[in-house]
Amino acid sequence: MIITKKVLRNVSLTAHPVGCRRYVEDQIAWVESHAKHSTQEHYPQIENLPLPKRVLILGGSTGYGLSSRIVAAFANGADTINVSFEREPSENKTATPGWYNTMAFEDIAKRKGLKASSVFGDAFSTQVKEAVAQRIQDELGQVDLVIYSLASPLRNDPATGQTYKSVLKPIGKTFSALSVDLESEIVKQATIEPATEEQVTETVKVMGGEDWSLWIDFLLKKHLLAKDAMTVAYSYIGPRITYPVYREGTIGKAKEHLENSAAQLTNKLKAINGKAYVSVNKALVTRASAVIPVVPLYMALLYQVMKEKGLHEHCTQQIYRLFTTLLYSNKAIPTDSEGRVRVDDWEMLSEIQQEVERRWALQQEGKPLVQGDLGGVWEEYEQIHGFGFSDIDYTKDVDPRIV
Ligand code: NAD
Repeated sequence: MIITKKVLRNVSLTAHPVGCRRYVEDQIAWVESHAKHSTQEHYPQIENLPLPKRVLILGGSTGYGLSSRIVAAFANGADTINVSFEREPSENKTATPGWYNTMAFEDIAKRKGLKASSVFGDAFSTQVKEAVAQRIQDELGQVDLVIYSLASPLRNDPATGQTYKSVLKPIGKTFSALSVDLESEIVKQATIEPATEEQVTETVKVMGGEDWSLWIDFLLKKHLLAKDAMTVAYSYIGPRITYPVYREGTIGKAKEHLENSAAQLTNKLKAINGKAYVSVNKALVTRASAVIPVVPLYMALLYQVMKEKGLHEHCTQQIYRLFTTLLYSNKAIPTDSEGRVRVDDWEMLSEIQQEVERRWALQQEGKPLVQGDLGGVWEEYEQIHGFGFSDIDYTKDVDPRIV
């Protein structure tokens, strides 16, 4: 079939197998070349760094999770297991980008002699936890690192069978701010009604630390975490402008819960001298972030400002910097006053934030976005779905079942 991009309300309905493979290959090439030959202080060579050799990635098929898998495997030759939720392709329907990415990643990793496999299914379920435990036992023995990078709209609680939904809403009062439609590129007003108390609770159930804790308890009990093992979950804080809908909204409450879980997990991990951290990462276009109201406008301004200052990074660069200069640098892991690792440091520089705020004030409802890089945001959004690569012929008939 001829696979074209179809986007509905910032959600891509299709993905391109050839382009997804290209996306994964490009990220791998970047990691391999930096691991061996980098002369950049922020992205050092990996020689002598104590990077993990056996890694479990929960949510490792797209975004920050995929980048974590790529950095672990291709900087340091780690064996990896991914857990993600995918739609498989059929003769006339494309798979999720995560499925194509995973097929491409595992093919390339195996050719290089690395162990790489996936358990596709609901990471919140007990069955998937059991299947992963068996897989670790069979393939890796134990793991040295567990990355928690799930972004999900809902969770079935395995204990009660109840389904919880996560929402992106302010708490207490209606929030109105400018936003931008990725397709029309026109700035418009977004108004979001506040969440009910129940919605706040449910969002914490989905995106808070409960499931992360269940995973770590489970793996500990089964003796599948190696001595000194680490677990890292990803969080976001962002600028004041998005506080009402993000950090002080429903998702912010969930992230607070996730961040508080890290301390409790570190306590539990003492038995194996392990540690749990939350890493606060930069705002980047992923399937999850593109649907957060107001955030695409912020990202368009942020991308432009960070590019002008030579500080823009994509997910893989963020994770490479996280692993090599913060988590496994042979020095004590630096944290903020709340115990969080900060790889959003460049995004949060006051010179960057002030310039974004100045440009935010220039935007007008009903007009195209000005002084931002919506093109760059859009390009990354297309590429994470396998589209927008100039040397791929998208008019060619391809079988969606073959990567
Ligand atoms: P993403 O949508 O690219 O990735 C989410 C992953 O979770 C995918 O692999 C998906 O298959 C998997 N997943 C979702 N539901 C699942 C389920 N029920 N069972 C198994 N797998 C499931 O998202 P992302 O932006 O990379 O987000 C990952 C984490 O990083 C989130 O915690 C997010 O809050 C955080 N983060 C994102 C940003 C950003 O700007 N994108 C910034 C900082 C932190």
